[in-house]
Amino acid sequence: MPSTLIKNGTVVTAERTFAADILIDGEKIRDIAPALPAENAGRVIDAAGMLLLPGGIDVHTHLDMPFGGTTSSDDFETGTRAAAFGGTTTLIDFAIQAKGTKMRDALDTWWKKADGRASIDYGLHMIVTDLGEAGLEDMDSLVAEGVASFKLFMAYPGVLMVDDATIFQALSRTAKNGALICMHAENGGVIDVIVRRALAAGKTAPIHHALTRPVTAEAEAVHRAIAMAEIAGVPVYIVHLSSEDALNQVREARDRGVPAFAETCPQYLLLNIDEMNKPGFESAKYVFTPPLREKHHPPKLWEGLKHDHLQVVSTDHCPFCFADQKSLGKDDFTKIPNGGPGIENRLQLIHHHGVNLGRISLNRFVELVATTPAKLFGLYPRKGTLAAGSDADIVVWDPNAEHTITAKTHHMRVDYSMFEGFTVKGNAKQVISRGEVLVDNGQWHGRPGRGQFLKRAARGGAWN
Ligand SMILES: [Zn+2]
Repeated sequence: MPSTLIKNGTVVTAERTFAADILIDGEKIRDIAPALPAENAGRVIDAAGMLLLPGGIDVHTHLDMPFGGTTSSDDFETGTRAAAFGGTTTLIDFAIQAKGTKMRDALDTWWKKADGRASIDYGLHMIVTDLGEAGLEDMDSLVAEGVASFKLFMAYPGVLMVDDATIFQALSRTAKNGALICMHAENGGVIDVIVRRALAAGKTAPIHHALTRPVTAEAEAVHRAIAMAEIAGVPVYIVHLSSEDALNQVREARDRGVPAFAETCPQYLLLNIDEMNKPGFESAKYVFTPPLREKHHPPKLWEGLKHDHLQVVSTDHCPFCFADQKSLGKDDFTKIPNGGPGIENRLQLIHHHGVNLGRISLNRFVELVATTPAKLFGLYPRKGTLAAGSDADIVVWDPNAEHTITAKTHHMRVDYSMFEGFTVKGNAKQVISRGEVLVDNGQWHGRPGRGQFLKRAARGGAWN
C-alpha cells in the first residue's frame, strides 16, 4: 500500500492538541511531526482547518443479533459502513452463548456473521449465559483467542440473566485470566415482578417499558456488581449506565480506589423520558434497556464524564425497524424488540453537545470515544491514539461542518433516527482505517470483508 501524507492538520489526542503532519506507511502511522516532506508520499491530503482524531472505538454494538423472534436490522456490512461514515473505525460486538451450548460455538457463529462483511476492524466480547461444567476453562480459552472480555446479565430472567454465584465465579476467574467482566446491571427479578403487575393491570403501552424499570433497580445492581468484583479483587465495567443513582454507586467505589469503570451512551445524555409520551406507538422507537430517565439525570451523566466518574461513551447500537420490528409489541410493550440505532452519530453528538457546548474538552472527547475504550479492552496503543507505530486509523474531522441528523440520509439500515432533526456542528470529512480511505467527503470507498478480527490483549487498562 502506498504512503499517504496528511498535511496542515491539528492532531488531537487524549493528552494534547498540536499542529503536525501525519505520514502513513502502509497500514501504520510512520511519523507525526511538523512540516514533513511531501515528495515521497503517494498521496497527500490537505487537512488545513481540520482536526486529526484517532478513529473512534465503539465497544458496545449488536449487529445481526437475534432478539425476541427477530434480528437487529444492521448486519456487519451495513453496520460497520454506517460506523465508518460517523468516524468510528473499530467496534467490539457481542457474541452470545446460547444456554446449554459452548461459548466457542458462539464465537464461530459471530465470526461467520462478520466474515466477508465487516469493513472496519472488530473485536468480540462473549455474553455468558451458562457456565456449565467447563465454563471457567472455556473463558480462559476464549481469552487466548483474543476475546478478552465477557458480559453477564443481571436482568432478563429466563433468557440472559445469571445468578450471583455465576457472576462471582466469572469475576473471580478473571483474577487468573485477566479478562474484563462487563455487567448489564439491573435487578431483573424485581423488574420482572413489576412488569407482570403492569400487564395484569392492562398497562401495555411503550411507556410502561420505562415505568417498570426503576432507577433504584439499576443502582442496586450496580452496587452489587461492584461489591462482588471487590470481593473477587478484580476490576469490573458497567455497561450503558443511565441514571444519577447508578452513577453515584460507581463514583463512591472509585473514590475508595476500587477499579470500577462505566460507560454511558448518547441516548442517556441527550434524551429523556419525555420521548416516551409521544402519541400512539411512536415511543416504541425509544424502547431499550435501561430506559430513558427523568430530565434531571442527563446533566449528572455529563458531569460524570467530565470528572472521570464515567470513562467511556459507547452506543449500544441495536437497531430494529419501526415499521415491521418494533410493531411486534403493538399490544404488549414486553414484545417490543429492545434497542435503538446510534452507531453512526456518536462522535457527531458527543463532539457537538460535549465540546461545542463547553461540557468537556476536545482531548476528553477523544479519550471518551477512542483512547479509554482501547485501553480498557486491550487494543492500546495499536488503536485509540495517534502515534508512530499505531494503526493508521485516522479521522479528518471538520469541526465546522454542520449537518442535521435524519433517517433520510443516514447510513444505518433502519427506518428512523433517535436523534431525528438534531443539528450538530462537526463531522468526519475523511475516515481512514489501517491506511485505507474508507470515506472521502461523503463518498464510500470501503469494501465489505476488509475489516479484521482483533485479538485483544488481557489485562488492559483496567488492570494497571
Ligand atoms: Zn447492549
